[in-house]
Amino acid sequence: MPYRIINLLIVMAAITSNAAALLALRCPRCHEGNIFSARALSFRFADMPAACPVCGQATEPEPGFYFGAMFVSYAFSVAIFAATALVLYFVFGDPAIWVYVTTVTIVATLLTPLSVRYSRMLMLYWFGGVHYHPRPSVARPL
Ligand SMILES: [Zn+2]
Repeated sequence: MPYRIINLLIVMAAITSNAAALLALRCPRCHEGNIFSARALSFRFADMPAACPVCGQATEPEPGFYFGAMFVSYAFSVAIFAATALVLYFVFGDPAIWVYVTTVTIVATLLTPLSVRYSRMLMLYWFGGVHYHPRPSVARPL
């Protein structure tokens, strides 16, 4: 029951913040449509529809647009490697090198869907040239 109430509140409340819409993986134009069509925990985690299912905004502004997301994903990977190594060093007392390699590999592999999705979202929000344009039904005050 509380889950239904929370879900209803989320649906009713319009996401007006770009940061909140980015974190929720929503369209940069309407902040309603999901940018990814499959779940993060599936092999199709990177699938995107051609256009936003709510407002029709193209999810790939130009061919090859998401090549730049590789650089953002690289930064995420470096952060994941560093954070994992720091945790191993300070929390687990500097274990053997094979523990570092194995743990970093497992953590980076498990976080790949998040890294890919958020690197694409950052590219779309930073360089996509799309600005928030609420639909009239969403723009009314709550
Ligand atoms: Zn949209």
